Amino acid sequence: MQAATEQVAVAPAAAPAPARPAKPRAGMMRQYDLVEKVRSYNPDTNEDLLNRAYVYAMKAHGAQTRASGDPYFSHPLEVAAILTDLKLDDATIVAALLHDTIEDTEATRAEIDQVFGHEIGALVEGLTKLKRLELVSREAKQAENLRKLLLAIADDVRVLLIKLADRLHNMRTLEFVPPASRRRIAEETLDIYAPLAGRMGMQEMREELEDLSFRSIDPEAYAVVKQRLDALAERNRNLIGEIESQLHKNLQKNGVVAHVYGRRKKPFSIWTKMERKSVGFEQLSDIFGFRVVLDSVEACYHALGVVHTTWPVVPGRFKDYISTPKQNDYRSIHTTVIGPGNQRVELQIRTEEMDRIAEFGIAAHAFYKDGVGSPTELLKRESNAFAWLRHTIGMLSESANPEEFLEHTKLELFHDQVFCFTPRGKLIALPRHANVIDFAYAVHTDVGNSAVGCKINGKFAPLSSELANGDEVEVLTSEAQSAPPSAWETLAVTGRARAAIRRATRTAVRDQYAGLGRRIIERLFARAKIDYADDKLKGALARLARTSIEEVMASVGRGELKASDVARAMYPDYKEERVARYGLKKGLADKLKQAQPHHPSRSSAVIPVGGTGKADLPIKFAPNGGAVPGDRIVGIITPGEGITIYPIQAPALKDFEDEPERWLDVRWDIDETTPQRFPARIRVDNVNEPGSLAQVATVIAEHDGNIDNISMYRRSPDFTELTIDLEVYDLKHLSAIIAQLRAKAVVARVERVNG
Ligand code: MN
Repeated sequence: MQAATEQVAVAPAAAPAPARPAKPRAGMMRQYDLVEKVRSYNPDTNEDLLNRAYVYAMKAHGAQTRASGDPYFSHPLEVAAILTDLKLDDATIVAALLHDTIEDTEATRAEIDQVFGHEIGALVEGLTKLKRLELVSREAKQAENLRKLLLAIADDVRVLLIKLADRLHNMRTLEFVPPASRRRIAEETLDIYAPLAGRMGMQEMREELEDLSFRSIDPEAYAVVKQRLDALAERNRNLIGEIESQLHKNLQKNGVVAHVYGRRKKPFSIWTKMERKSVGFEQLSDIFGFRVVLDSVEACYHALGVVHTTWPVVPGRFKDYISTPKQNDYRSIHTTVIGPGNQRVELQIRTEEMDRIAEFGIAAHAFYKDGVGSPTELLKRESNAFAWLRHTIGMLSESANPEEFLEHTKLELFHDQVFCFTPRGKLIALPRHANVIDFAYAVHTDVGNSAVGCKINGKFAPLSSELANGDEVEVLTSEAQSAPPSAWETLAVTGRARAAIRRATRTAVRDQYAGLGRRIIERLFARAKIDYADDKLKGALARLARTSIEEVMASVGRGELKASDVARAMYPDYKEERVARYGLKKGLADKLKQAQPHHPSRSSAVIPVGGTGKADLPIKFAPNGGAVPGDRIVGIITPGEGITIYPIQAPALKDFEDEPERWLDVRWDIDETTPQRFPARIRVDNVNEPGSLAQVATVIAEHDGNIDNISMYRRSPDFTELTIDLEVYDLKHLSAIIAQLRAKAVVARVERVNG
């Protein structure tokens, strides 16, 4: 029986090789094309070796044809061509040409060793073993299949690269295979080969494998997504060019030379996003991403600064994978801005080297660099992805049976789920990219609503942490938190969590406004020296055209009803007090005195600020500088919005001088056991020299600071002024980061910005 994946239609006659070669199809790559392609990236290529392999494989496959009717030889040739796109070494290209000869022709390992040497012989034999086991274990165990696959590639990772290219070409020509096997091959590709390519950092390969599988498994869904994608791309065609040129122009104006290009997302990735988040796609950012490719790390941060100062940033989308790379070696800066045409624009900013690794992954390391060592040795030294592979194979030898192994490995490879555990060992399955918030709601709605922190594998972590397979998650809850922050709704990945958060916040928002309204009324009555009582207000409900005290409070909180109108309804002879005009200096001094948390006459109005604080008030932090525990703080009430917390040294407080009724005493209420981050802003004067911006980002990342945003202004040829929004635990943490930055030679000055 022939391997269906190889699409052999006609077995060779048992005639002695070489049989007469089948006629090559028009447009098929020729011998000369292949050699030229290799030479374009590897001037030292052994052309004679390539030519011999080409002729050997062509003769060996002879008159064999593929299911498509093409000469069989077109297949190994296409596989070799895919690998030249990855710029791989001669041995890999030659082994690709020969990869089906031992299994499907008269050729033997001994002969290949003799003609092409032991290295190539070993690669071809690795692929032969893989192919045989695909045949044997078709019906039986996928587990055993995978185990053998990984064992085989353990010898030489180039076997995996050839196998992936082999699978890619078979997927590209899958339409010629009978429907029954088509589905099985596509599912296997989606389950095993595409995730494997992803784990090896080969994103291009992964995306194409996924897309081809998707098209076979669910042709209707594929067609629908593709059609809509085409229509949207057509509608936005001018805009895409406009964005590219605007990006390019603005960068150039600031002295950054960049290669900018838009990139269409693939139907499969759009489809999984639609399934995962149950959303449609209509915006440009749903279908297009832009890449900005530069020549140095320094230039990446420079470009980021330009982008962030030119267009408004979409909060929560900034990720710096340059200072903290992903496990599969991926490095890049991600951000989203509101760009030209008022469109969300998704950007990936990276160097050429990072771009190459992002697309080729492990294969980017595999190309032989003169005299540095063999490709495999290079991989061992340079690649995280290879370390993962080693680790997986290590696990293999430890597990007793293949099923158990699959349990482990499929956990790693499974393309759309993560499996996590509660401290008691209960398994919680979540969609990929789910975070602790999703986990908490999957355990119980009450756990989600009262979650204030978590430990992942025994270590404190933010609730927004993305979960990995096998994580043990302990959710820390607080009774003081009656409702989750509404921002969680956008953080949560699962529909279940989002629905629960929306329910809880809808009630909470009403309660919050009622709470805020009550504060405003209490303040007004205290200042007017009148007693406030709920009973008295009850009697005035009709006059205020409200049905309950709660409703009155919520209306005041929303700014729909004035506190003075409430007072007048309760006490008809109440007269609105005129706001005293304070002198600037005297006023500020007074306000500062009010801000003391222990001020005796105000103790009833002190509001706790922090994670475990009461959720009955809408609290936010000073927009241009934030506030962190350790700061002395004051709250400013804005009816309809809530309370904004300022450090008392914030110059912005001057704006509220004339409105003493808006000032509120507040104090920190931080639970040491559930660390929480708070916003702060710093300004860094950086010496303009290569790598200086990268150094700043790295210092902050290394000291556990979370960068929310960076904007940049070039003050002179020698200095750049960076404004960095951070999230830190407290003043001590912030001071430590500032001290570490000051210790860097490239940093001329660091200051906190107080808004
Ligand atoms: Mn093949």
